[in-house]
Amino acid sequence: MKKKHAELAEVFNADESMTDWHDETLWWIRQKRDRSAHNIPEWEQLRQWASDIKAHTLSNLDYYLEEFERNAIANGIKVHWARDAAEHNAIIAGIIRENGVSRVVKSKSMLTEECHLNDHLKDLGIEVVDTDLGERIVQLRDEPPSHIVLPAIHLKKEEVSKTFHQKLGTELGNHDPVYLTSAARDHLRERFIEAELAITGVNFAVANTGEFVVCTNEGNADMGAHLAKVHIAAMGIEKLIPSQKHLGVFTRLLARSATGQPITAYTSHFRTPARGRAIHIVLVDNGRSRLLGQEDFRNSLKCIRCGACFNTCPVYRRSGGHSYHTAIAGPIGSILSPNLDLKANADLPFASTLCGSCSNVCPVKINIHEQLWKWRQVIADKKQFGLFKRLSMRVTATVLSSPFVYRITGRMARWVLRNWPAMINRKSINPWYKQREMPEAPKESFREWYVKNGQL
Ligand code: SF4
Repeated sequence: MKKKHAELAEVFNADESMTDWHDETLWWIRQKRDRSAHNIPEWEQLRQWASDIKAHTLSNLDYYLEEFERNAIANGIKVHWARDAAEHNAIIAGIIRENGVSRVVKSKSMLTEECHLNDHLKDLGIEVVDTDLGERIVQLRDEPPSHIVLPAIHLKKEEVSKTFHQKLGTELGNHDPVYLTSAARDHLRERFIEAELAITGVNFAVANTGEFVVCTNEGNADMGAHLAKVHIAAMGIEKLIPSQKHLGVFTRLLARSATGQPITAYTSHFRTPARGRAIHIVLVDNGRSRLLGQEDFRNSLKCIRCGACFNTCPVYRRSGGHSYHTAIAGPIGSILSPNLDLKANADLPFASTLCGSCSNVCPVKINIHEQLWKWRQVIADKKQFGLFKRLSMRVTATVLSSPFVYRITGRMARWVLRNWPAMINRKSINPWYKQREMPEAPKESFREWYVKNGQL
């Protein structure tokens, strides 16, 4: 059975110094984001515009998708539609086969992660090389990415050095980032030159021009797409914006929210294939229409995958991306994943303190913490809790709904904690105690104290 978030977080937390380092590094990026956002006086206005543009597009998604398709075809792009992950994978495999190719390069695309494209192609004997540095590191280690913007953020340079030594033959014990990056660059250059087909994701697709935009910091998407004869772009249908004039709102928000940079190093527009070349775009639903039809969750489709909600989330920072056991981790992943498989991902909306920090930083103003809370209600209604949690919730509801029962229970709990603590604080029966020492229970409640002393 698949392990749950809390169990996987415990594995990550076993290395305390690593957990602290992960927490501090992501918080440093969050602070960079804050400084960058505060440099723009109209930041809040930009967020509102971005949210409104996305709301408008989502309300008219059918119209804009058809407009995009018409214009893309007129530009010479081949447009494909995929209902789900299986169709997405089959379409891409079909294009690869038609072109008689066995080695492809792929730049970062969370959609292909969501659809498990790499595994599918590997099963067909097609070699896929991820060309984003972080993605290549985790691919060499046979691991999934742990963050949507920083896929290898769970690794320190010493571990990367060890992996590169084993897989790329670099010098043992040389942890110098410049040396390691340069080795990765040489290794990837060869793959770029050999590859006849490149796969990229899509950050934004513009309906009125039929073009799409890919943002990277390493230029790896451009290198792949320009060197290969065939370019396949995989795009979730929510990536649309109506027109080019809206693009600036999103590009100003994206890089600042992601890493605190003013703009991504490469913001490349793909509109028409060069002579003798082909561009395919695969428009993928995979549960997005279902989300669109749910008032409480449709706003999550506004997400531009900046990762800001990850960097600020106290739970993500201290539990690591792999503990979310899905392609997209963090707060937004905990909203998107239950839509794909409620039973398998029912634990994720609980991996949050509901502090609201994610909603505060989100550049498109998604009410993330409210949606996590809504999912908890859906999960409770559909009885996707374990028996223990269901019973404890029922007991808690009874206690909290009656002042009399609450007072009696409080009195009993204080007595037990003082006189028989092993009943409550045994770590094996009460996970709350695993990382905590409780203060000594007081003799009386605040209410009892207030009744006695409130008139003083
Ligand atoms: S939900 Fe908002 S903050 Fe999180 S990745 Fe998406 S756009 Fe960024």
